Amino acid sequence: MPTNPPIKAARGLRDILPAERTAYAVVEHAAQDLARRFGYQEVELPIIEPVELIERGVGTGSDAGGKELYRLEPHADADGEAGARLVLRPEATASMVRAYFQGGLNQGPQPVRLFTIGPMFRHDRPQHLRYRQFAQLDVEVIGDDSPAYDVEVIEMTWGWLEATGIRNLSLELNTIGDANCRPRYLRLLQDYYRPFRDKLHPDCQRRLEDNPLRLLDCKEAQCQPFKAAAPKITDHLCGPCAAAFEQVKSLLDAAGLEYRLNPYLVRGLDYYTRTVFELQHGSLGGAQNALGGGGRYDALAAELGYPDTPGVGFAGGIDRVAYMLQHELGTVTPPAAADVLVLPMNEGLERAAAQVGRICRRASPTAVDYRTRSLRAKMRAADRSGATWVVIMNAEEAQRRVVQLRNLASGDQREVAWDALPEAITSPQGPGEIARSGGVKREGPE
Ligand code: AMP
Repeated sequence: MPTNPPIKAARGLRDILPAERTAYAVVEHAAQDLARRFGYQEVELPIIEPVELIERGVGTGSDAGGKELYRLEPHADADGEAGARLVLRPEATASMVRAYFQGGLNQGPQPVRLFTIGPMFRHDRPQHLRYRQFAQLDVEVIGDDSPAYDVEVIEMTWGWLEATGIRNLSLELNTIGDANCRPRYLRLLQDYYRPFRDKLHPDCQRRLEDNPLRLLDCKEAQCQPFKAAAPKITDHLCGPCAAAFEQVKSLLDAAGLEYRLNPYLVRGLDYYTRTVFELQHGSLGGAQNALGGGGRYDALAAELGYPDTPGVGFAGGIDRVAYMLQHELGTVTPPAAADVLVLPMNEGLERAAAQVGRICRRASPTAVDYRTRSLRAKMRAADRSGATWVVIMNAEEAQRRVVQLRNLASGDQREVAWDALPEAITSPQGPGEIARSGGVKREGPE
């Protein structure tokens, strides 16, 4: 008989197994809690979007909207209508802005505060903490251009990371101007870099023409010597952009949030205007030290064909934060799969064991071990499982609707009536106390 080779997950994609899922849940709950405290409402958006939304919203010149985009094969509809060109979303901001208009949220009170948590897809080179499918917390304030919202988003996302227990965060801050001042600055940047063109990495030679701002966040060693003397956008801002940046800084000071001005922070996406920021943690090291980042995108809505509407947002990497909790802080201990294990000793007890399982579940997570193994083997498995209680069942006791309830830590074992189980397994004193307080009842069979 031919044996098929075992099928594995596709490269760069991974399973999040129970131990890791617990850390994810902690991170997600902290995000939901903080976002709600700040008055943000949760939404769910499609993972698949029209290619135009991403190409225009994220920009084909960026990695996420260009070479890393997962494109789906178009599916013709049953009526013969040509299928739309669709992609797996690499980020959520463009979708959020689309949903804001498409759902009529632009008609209500402004600004609108939204958040979502979900998977993103980028066909990047897989490496530690850089996956092809990863989860993001995405937070957006759409409909007002006050720099106070920039700082609110930063304060909230900082609070989210602190709520998970992460300390020693650093906030990197920059501005990239807007349509008034940036074009002139980009020409200055190109004029500065052109004489060194041949010495730049091939990617940067391309960026010099397509996306010169990204010359500044290049990580290639051969390009580093040219950065220090490059013109800085903060020296070339127009009046309104300079005033907005001053306000962001003074509101951050008032919030007690320290920041480091980083003239090389530009973000890879084309629609950002003015504030850009990144929250980093040194312990992750290297290129993967960003836990999240964001900024203002006042030019995005018009780019997507909607009325000019300002917005500011943040995308946080759930995988990286969960990794920190699990591997750096060690603060997440996955709970046992079940706190109570029901161990029928003989075959033929499945019905009674299932019923006892139902009763115990009223009080605690409970699993039934239906395998036809010896009690010894089942007890060994129970010991390893991290459960607190085992409920041992034999046919004679099942007739009387009683079980042996054993506390795995103390080894205490008592007979307990089925109906007294919920109380017995929640009692801090254990079964002995229940017995003394009259919790153990002797009842005949049904
Ligand atoms: P970006 O949308 O590129 O600004 O990313 C925002 C955050 O998402 C980053 O700071 C990371 O924490 C996380 N992130 C981005 N790309 C990946 C990836 N390929 N794998 C894991 N996390 C990622």
